[in-house]
Amino acid sequence: VWVAALAASIAGCGGEVETSEVQVQQALSGDLMPLPEEARAAGGDVSSQAITSKVYPILLIPAGSSVTPTQQATVRQAMGSIRRWYNRELPTKNVVWEPMQVMAGDQTAAHYLTNNNVWAEMPGELQAKLGWSPWDTGDQRHIALIIGRDLMGWAGGNGYPDGRGLAILGMESLVETSRCSTEWWCTPEIWHGTVIHELGHAFSLPHDSDGNSIMSFHSDYKNKHLVRDHASIVDASPATALKYANWAACGGDYQCGTLRCGGNYGNQLQCLPSSLYPKQAQNIPLGYLCRSHSECQSGRCELNADGYKTCRDAPQPVYVDSYFPDSCGTGATGWTWYQSQSSSMYHQIGRPDGYDWSARVDLDGPGYLIYGPYDAKYGEGRHTAWYYLMIDNNTANNDVVATIDVVTNGGGRVLARRDIRRQEFTAANQWQWFSFDFFDACFGNVETRLFWTDRAYLKIGGVYIQR
Ligand SMILES: [Zn+2]
Repeated sequence: VWVAALAASIAGCGGEVETSEVQVQQALSGDLMPLPEEARAAGGDVSSQAITSKVYPILLIPAGSSVTPTQQATVRQAMGSIRRWYNRELPTKNVVWEPMQVMAGDQTAAHYLTNNNVWAEMPGELQAKLGWSPWDTGDQRHIALIIGRDLMGWAGGNGYPDGRGLAILGMESLVETSRCSTEWWCTPEIWHGTVIHELGHAFSLPHDSDGNSIMSFHSDYKNKHLVRDHASIVDASPATALKYANWAACGGDYQCGTLRCGGNYGNQLQCLPSSLYPKQAQNIPLGYLCRSHSECQSGRCELNADGYKTCRDAPQPVYVDSYFPDSCGTGATGWTWYQSQSSSMYHQIGRPDGYDWSARVDLDGPGYLIYGPYDAKYGEGRHTAWYYLMIDNNTANNDVVATIDVVTNGGGRVLARRDIRRQEFTAANQWQWFSFDFFDACFGNVETRLFWTDRAYLKIGGVYIQR
């Protein structure tokens, strides 16, 4: 299957990326990766029961190699662009992704690059370290997308339509182009195209000679597409899920069935019912995150030098091409609890109170009851912060007793903010949750704060962050 399609790509591409890929796929066309017996018997369809799959991005650090935090953040951010690209191409589905994991390799990069060892050995390493192989045939299928340090221009990918696949490539052309500057493939733009292309193979896509196809060549990925039946092949993969319904919370157009995500109140964006629906209430103030000019009170939503877009009152002179500018990668999912006395939580005022932390009108002046945890694991999309609070009197008046916010950049960027009034507590001396949503922490040091106004005894158990 592969060999016929490969002749065209050798002529069309050349260079180290396709050469490596050709070697890999020639190997795959031989005995290494035969279709499993059950697939032959069922004519290629092994999904007689509900089977799910996901794409698992893995940052591979070979023995003797290292990756800086900045390089790691760059790869995470780039993953968001890859994800958006696929979701843009699929009519009704989104690819389902796990957060990126970091994995230490058993072997050196030099070893991996010899004889395509990385391709042969990585399934076994995944099995040993993560407990699964991309070739497992169980109910839980996996598509591994491995970005390897010091693998330079190596790239390859293959997979099955049933949600199993493997794609591997180097990262220097994204994060350290000085290492490969004489190579044709050594640009971040071609790196993105290569990831999309190899992942396409992992979704079982073959090569293609159509100039608009990402499966024909790796460059200019923003203007390349899944052509002919490619979109329907990926769409049918168990590693996809339906796009969001109308009014579901969203972080970008591509997540919605209507491909339209907008702001209707506060900072919460929702999937809107049609492609022509007015996108926003134009209610986001200066300095807050935005996605389009029309979301801002000022009418200007500008990309900053650090890759964020915020509502501004003047054009921003520094333009950074971050490919898909809204993107910063998925980040952590699930729940994380930050207890008020934990080492990651700080206090300007107040004192330990049992397992918790509190401030008293007779002992404290206004200030931050808690701030922290400075956790950089949160990425794009909707998150919720939940504060666990108690007050001693919920009826005396209706003053603002606290202001809670979520910030990054040491408070320089406010992602969400909420005043809490005394009578929002439904009872005295009982725990109560107060929450709000925030968006696109983008791997800044996320800080949850509670500013205490010196109006009432207040106790905090901690803060949950959920995505
Ligand atoms: Zn290819």
